[in-house]
Amino acid sequence: MTDWEPQRIAMVETQLVPRGITDERVLDAMREVPRHAFVGPGMESSAYGDHALPIGEAQTISQPFMVALMTQELALTGREKVLEIGTGSGYQTALLARLAEQVFSVERVESLGRRAQKTLEELGYTNVLIKIGDGSIGWKEFSPFDRIIVTAGSPNLPASLLDQLDDPGAMVIPVGNQGFQELKVVHRESGSDTLRNAGGCVFVPLLGKEGWDSAG
Ligand code: SAM
Repeated sequence: MTDWEPQRIAMVETQLVPRGITDERVLDAMREVPRHAFVGPGMESSAYGDHALPIGEAQTISQPFMVALMTQELALTGREKVLEIGTGSGYQTALLARLAEQVFSVERVESLGRRAQKTLEELGYTNVLIKIGDGSIGWKEFSPFDRIIVTAGSPNLPASLLDQLDDPGAMVIPVGNQGFQELKVVHRESGSDTLRNAGGCVFVPLLGKEGWDSAG
């Protein structure tokens, strides 16, 4: 059986550290979570490359650097309740599960959500709950959340997600048009929100009631 650990370590040293990922908990998690287990069969040897990869259903597992950057922006300590929108392969979910207390993740494509759930179960993650549905409206039942991460590009900041963010709290979300977005970081403290741009990015669209119209 292939030992992928050297590739994970190389990924961290060549793609993440030189580009400013400094959170040691994030770097450690990325040295440990087996990214190759979340890509399709036959794609394992590409899993640690410096790019996104297709995961079926016209969706992607994001580039390792983008996953690391978004996770670092959440500044997780291990005690947070996190809402993730766009489970995809479940790779980002696995990192969140290692770095936070509880993860609630919503995926609109059933086959992807089910496959991610199976992979996460096989790897032994027990603090993740996955729902199939429209995550642009959040997951009210379990709100408020200390952190929210959206891994699909949104036309704006969805009001439901802002409603479901706790105070203090933080949310990272790519906002822009369908070809290009800015990674926005919302920080909520003592009743007021501040918004920061953390760089440009390209994500598949967030489809749904408070995202892009799935019909068009
Ligand atoms: N973080 C994922 C990973 O590590 O594999 C990659 C996520 S992929 C870039 C974006 C995902 O968002 C896709 O799986 C897509 O189906 C999902 N998505 C798009 N709109 C959604 C919505 N309204 N609710 C939930 N998931 C959505």
